[in-house]
Amino acid sequence: MQKVKAAVCHEFSAPLVIEDIVLRAPERGEIEVTLDAVAICHSDISFAQGAWGGSLPAVYGHEAAGRVSALGSGITGLNLGDSVVVTLIRACGTCCSCAGGKPTLCDTPYDGDAGPITTADGGRLHQAMATGGFAEKVVVDQNQVVRIDPDVPKDAASLIACGVITGVGAVVNAAGLRAGQDVVVIGAGGVGLNAIQGARIAGARRIVAVDMSEDKLETAKDFGATHGVLGTTDKPWRAAFEALGGRGADAVIVTVGAIPAYDQAPRYLASGGKVVMVGMPHSGAKSSYEPVVLAAVGQGMIGSKMGDVVIQRDIPWMVDLYLQGRLKLDELISGRWSLDQINEAIADTKAGAARRNVIVFDT
Ligand SMILES: [Zn+2]
Ligand SMILES: [Zn+2]
Repeated sequence: MQKVKAAVCHEFSAPLVIEDIVLRAPERGEIEVTLDAVAICHSDISFAQGAWGGSLPAVYGHEAAGRVSALGSGITGLNLGDSVVVTLIRACGTCCSCAGGKPTLCDTPYDGDAGPITTADGGRLHQAMATGGFAEKVVVDQNQVVRIDPDVPKDAASLIACGVITGVGAVVNAAGLRAGQDVVVIGAGGVGLNAIQGARIAGARRIVAVDMSEDKLETAKDFGATHGVLGTTDKPWRAAFEALGGRGADAVIVTVGAIPAYDQAPRYLASGGKVVMVGMPHSGAKSSYEPVVLAAVGQGMIGSKMGDVVIQRDIPWMVDLYLQGRLKLDELISGRWSLDQINEAIADTKAGAARRNVIVFDT
């Protein structure tokens, strides 16, 4: 048992409160990680606003990197001091989904209310997304982490844990993009830029970014977009079709949670293409499409959770891409903040200008 500083959500839509919480020691199969960096993801903000419900009080934060500082029993392959990326993908390894190669869809439920954290006076405290990363330290299952080269800066490494695997994985794993195919990415925010660079890495022929902001379209080009289309124009898919030689895209990656984006997404498709749904609207929001069109030209719509990644396979690959200069991470960071400044960092992210704001710890 030890006290650590954390940002706690006591009430949806209210500022997070910086306070001491109690973190228990790692048990069998778990490790404790002292965090160096945790990024702020839109999912953290959606949870803190109550968009998806969930228990309170809670500690959010799930895009983290740090060093192993304690080991539970039965840990193999990790040592004290190892640099790691910490993800929210808590996969049991033995259920139908895990055994079938889809650990992001693990069927074994995890009860964050019974996790390793409690309030300072011993009350229930929800470890959100199996991580609770807005804290100086976390205790997580060993299968949620991947050891990385200690030379990779932790602020850059933290981004891999969610935004990068989600965006790159949506293209490479979920869409199964082959070299030479065409891609449309709707939304050029944190996940969208990663889908764009994932398409570049996968060898896409043409990559069309669609966004409501001219500035974001410019940034998208730095990450590999070959064309930009303003989403505010009338029937924006027409401009995309023009950029794609009139055929439409083999894959359309929706990285925003806006329903109009979902309604329009199939319009960008080529025959046989598929929409990959990554952005997460509020619970209850609905989109509509014409089944006859999808059936007639063999199109598909699929959801992708966390880029369908297998972290032990994909994160070492992404780290190497970064070290080789082929995956941009530093360029995704728009600001660095202390844990005490987390509410300002969240406000900056909500204001929309930010790519990724990262909380850095000076431990
Ligand atoms: Zn996230
Ligand atoms: Zn499982």
